[in-house]
Amino acid sequence: MRTLLLDSTFFPVKIISWQKAMILLLTGRAEVVDEYDDFKIRSVTDSYNLPKILRLYNKHLSSKSVKFSRMNVYWRDNFKCQYCYKKFPTSHLTFDHVMPVSRGGGTSWQNVVTCCVRCNNKKANKTPQEAGMTLMKKPVMPKWSPQLCLRLKKDDPSEWTEWFPSKVT
Ligand SMILES: [Zn+2]
Repeated sequence: MRTLLLDSTFFPVKIISWQKAMILLLTGRAEVVDEYDDFKIRSVTDSYNLPKILRLYNKHLSSKSVKFSRMNVYWRDNFKCQYCYKKFPTSHLTFDHVMPVSRGGGTSWQNVVTCCVRCNNKKANKTPQEAGMTLMKKPVMPKWSPQLCLRLKKDDPSEWTEWFPSKVT
């Protein structure tokens, strides 16, 4: 049995073993959002339902930095083009460097956004201002791990997916 861990803002962070989940719970670092009805752990004096979803109290979660990759940028941006704000399947999406590479822009969380092919052609080698386009939101490194969405096992609870950014296929 595994437990989905959310940060204090209800963002999914990672999937942990139930043993780790119990430690977080019993040391007062997290609260239960949902529990397994049919799985209990017994101590000498008590019995607990296994936590299915936990939320951390602490705002400052010391998580590893999220790996920069095309797919993770899509997850961060929820598969929405950051210029026309529409959702697309991955085959219609591409990267856009907010400040074009040819003008010194880097390939980083802060300068790369999800963009549809049409908007990418329209923007070309311009800055958003020059192209008359407005970013949906300022790009930053995500605090959570987008890949956890891809690592679900067969017996993980289906409700977990409600907490994940959704993908169009
Ligand atoms: Zn677009």
